[in-house]
Amino acid sequence: MTNHSFRDSTEVMFQSTVDKLELDPGLAEKIRIANSTYTVRFGVKLRGQIHTFTGYRSVHSEHREPVKGGIRYALSVNQDEVEALATLMTFKCALTDVPFGGAKGGLCIDPTQWTEEELERITRRFAYELIKRDLIHPSQNVPAPDMGTGEREMAWIADQYARMHTTDINAAACVTGKPVGQHGIKGRTEATGRGVQYALREFFRHGEDVAGAGLSGSLEGKTVIVQGLGNVGYHAAKFLTEEDGAKVIAVIERDGTVVDRSGINIEALHKHIAETGGVANFPNSIVLSAKAPARFLEEECDILIPAAVEGVLNEGNAEKIKAKVIIEAANGPTTAAADRILRKRGVTIIPDLYANAGGVIVSYFEWVKNLSHMRFGRMQRRLEETQNAMLLDEIDRVLSSNGLNGISEGFRDQYAKGACELDLVRSGLDDTMREAYQGMRAFLRSDDRFPDLRSAGYALSIQKIAAAYAAKGL
Ligand code: NAD
Repeated sequence: MTNHSFRDSTEVMFQSTVDKLELDPGLAEKIRIANSTYTVRFGVKLRGQIHTFTGYRSVHSEHREPVKGGIRYALSVNQDEVEALATLMTFKCALTDVPFGGAKGGLCIDPTQWTEEELERITRRFAYELIKRDLIHPSQNVPAPDMGTGEREMAWIADQYARMHTTDINAAACVTGKPVGQHGIKGRTEATGRGVQYALREFFRHGEDVAGAGLSGSLEGKTVIVQGLGNVGYHAAKFLTEEDGAKVIAVIERDGTVVDRSGINIEALHKHIAETGGVANFPNSIVLSAKAPARFLEEECDILIPAAVEGVLNEGNAEKIKAKVIIEAANGPTTAAADRILRKRGVTIIPDLYANAGGVIVSYFEWVKNLSHMRFGRMQRRLEETQNAMLLDEIDRVLSSNGLNGISEGFRDQYAKGACELDLVRSGLDDTMREAYQGMRAFLRSDDRFPDLRSAGYALSIQKIAAAYAAKGL
C-alpha cells in the first residue's frame, strides 16, 4: 500500500502532468518547488505563563503578485501541509484566471482550547510577525480564512496591519474574508460552498459528463453525503438542498455521523452543532458515534462532498466508495493512489483545484473592491433600475393600448431591480466557475493524454504558469 502524504500526492499529480506535457525540466522544477517557507515561533503570555506557538507562511509561486492563500488554525498544521496547500493555490488561481500566485499559512493551535480574547492576542501576535516581514501586504501577500479561521480572525489581522501601516491607503486589501462592515464583500463567507454548487450545476449541464458518471437528469433528487459541516460543507449542503432539490442523506462530522435517508434539515443541524458543539442528540435522525465515522464515506450516494481534511479517500477505502461523483470541496481529500483507483472504477472526480476555488475567486473581488475603495454596483445600480422600469412601463403601455394584460408584478419586481453587490459577486463567481469547467472539459476532450478533470486542470494551469514565466524571460 502506498501511503501518500498530502504533499506526496500533490507532487505525484503534478509530476505525471508535467511528464505528459514534455515541459522543459528546468521550468518544471521552477514551477514545482515552493519559493519560500517562513517558520515563526512566538510566545504569548496567557493564563499566567508564556505559551510558544509555531506558525508558517509559505509562498509557492510569485509568477503573479500578490500571492494568495488562507491561514489555517489546526494542531495538524506542519510545513509539508502548508507547502502542499500553497502549491494547490498556485494551480487554483491559474486555472480560474485569478491573477495571484499561490501561498498558504498555518498556525499549530486548537482554537477551541482558547477564549476569544486569547485567540485575538495570539492572532495579532502571529500577524505582527508576518506583517513586519511583508508576508502580509496588499501588493505582495494576501491571506484569507481557511479551516479554523473566519472573518473574525481576518478582521484582527486587517486591524493589526492598519496599526503598523498607518498611512497605507490600501491597508484593507492586506487580507480578504473580512466582515462586510469592515471592508469585506457580500458573498465571501458563502463563496467556497456556493462555488461547489455552481461547479455541480455546470457539471449537470453537460449530459455526456453526467452519463459518463452513471447518472442522469439534474441535481433534483440526487443523494448527497457531506463530510465536515463547517463553512464550506454547510454552505454547499444548504444551497444544494434549498435551491437545487438535492437530498443530503448523511453528514459525517468529527464526533459522529447523522443519517437520514429522507433528507437532513441542514439549517437545523448547523444550528445544533453551533449550540452544542457536535452532532450528538440531533433529533429525528440516527446519530452514530464517532467510532468509525469515515466509514460513511463508503455509503451508497450519487454525490460525495468531502469538505473537511485531506487524505480521507485513500487506498484503504477507494475500492469501497459507492458515490458516482466526488466533488472535492476540501483541499487534497483524495490521495494520488486513491485517485488512480477511483478513476479506474469510473468514479468522476471534480478536483479540488477547481471545485473549491470559489473562496479565492470572491477574495479576488474583495481585494479589487478594497483597492477601488468602492462597493460594486454603487455607480450603476439605480441607473439600471430606472432604465429597466422605463422599458417595462413602455411595454405595459403598448400592451394596454392593444387591450392586453400588462406585465405581472412578480416579473416587474424581479426584472426592474438593478444588480447589488451580492448579485454581482454571485454572477462573477458563477461565470468564473462555468468558464473554468468548460476550459478543463474542452482540454480533456482535445488531448487524450489528459482523460480526467484533474489532469486536464493541472495541465491547463501549468501551461498558464509556464507562459507567465516565459513572459518574464524565464
Ligand atoms: P471549517 O473549520 O469551517 O470546517 C471544517 C469542518 O470539518 C468542521 O465542522 C469540523 O468539525 C469538520 N471536521 C474536521 N475534521 C473532520 C474529520 N476528520 N471528519 C469529519 N469532519 C471533520 O473549515 P472550512 O473553511 O469549511 O474548510 C474545510 C476544507 O475546505 C479545508 O480542506 C479547507 O482547506 C478547504 N477550503 C476552505 C476554503 C474557505 O473559504 N474556507 C476555501 C477553499 C478550500
